[in-house]
Amino acid sequence: MSGQTAPAAPHAGVSVDVPAKINPHLGVGDPRADGYHALSTVYQAISLHDTVTAEKREEPGIEITISGEGAGDLPTGEANLAHKAAKLVALYAGIEPAVKLHLNKRIPVAGGLAGGSADAAGALVACARLWDVAIGDAELHRLAAGLGSDVPFCLKGGTAIGTGRGEELTPVRAKGTWHWVVATTDTRISTPECYKEVDRLREDGIGRFSSDVDPIVRAFESGADADTLARLLVNDMEAAAVSLRPQLASLMHGGLEEGALAAHVSGSGPTILFLATDVKHAVALARRIRMRGGARSVHLAHGPVDGPAA
Ligand code: ATP
Repeated sequence: MSGQTAPAAPHAGVSVDVPAKINPHLGVGDPRADGYHALSTVYQAISLHDTVTAEKREEPGIEITISGEGAGDLPTGEANLAHKAAKLVALYAGIEPAVKLHLNKRIPVAGGLAGGSADAAGALVACARLWDVAIGDAELHRLAAGLGSDVPFCLKGGTAIGTGRGEELTPVRAKGTWHWVVATTDTRISTPECYKEVDRLREDGIGRFSSDVDPIVRAFESGADADTLARLLVNDMEAAAVSLRPQLASLMHGGLEEGALAAHVSGSGPTILFLATDVKHAVALARRIRMRGGARSVHLAHGPVDGPAA
């Protein structure tokens, strides 16, 4: 999307698919004065996605219904990020919100895949379209950044470098498609809990800031094969996630024993990403990981894919 969005006809309902994000490189610096950690990350959007549907409602208000993965555990009121997003669009447009939002979740909750941020990005786009709000890219990005560090990337999708607290994006022209097996677990890790553990481990001299994203960016831009990518994956939160949930180590080792090129904690975990050579390898690897047990669910995904406002 570029410039202003100005849909022609009024909409009865709008549905958008919003991808999960992974961080093939996640460098975590020290906490800043505002409490956020400085990040040097490379995001990639993958084909695992939530669907956000917005429909007009007769009465004023924002009504949220949720189906799918972890639906019962999520707030449907103001604590839901999609609710906050709808409110922001209405505020921007100077209207009273009257919308029914339905979130069909496939992205595991609190799994390090930015499911909540994806729903927020989806709600921004769906509400702007539903209400015919002319909103430029820069303004949409500003609203997104106010909702959370990962929300701007969830709008755009593709591949991008993220700096600041992750919200300052530089697009990367990735040439190719990479295939992953996404293994969810029975546990959850809240992102603040994981940052706290990173800080605690650093006080003990464990871990450092991997600030240099150039090698992996060059690999994506040159269409490197999966073997090369496997050697370049970085996650400064991995030790913290495994320290909080030691059972992740056996899931990771199991996947490697089954032939994964790499095992990578997704964001702050506890979802584990296994890199495959190609789609055929990914299908076989997913089957073997499922049979081995230890994961709650096992999905196939590829990236990069576009976001709802790409
Ligand atoms: P990230 O990788 O962005 O740190 P995450 O993928 O680990 O996040 P989310 O699935 O985004 O985690 O959920 C984090 C918390 O956000 C949940 O525990 C939940 O209570 C809250 N939340 C609010 N709205 C949503 C939503 N629409 N979907 C999922 N979680 C939501």
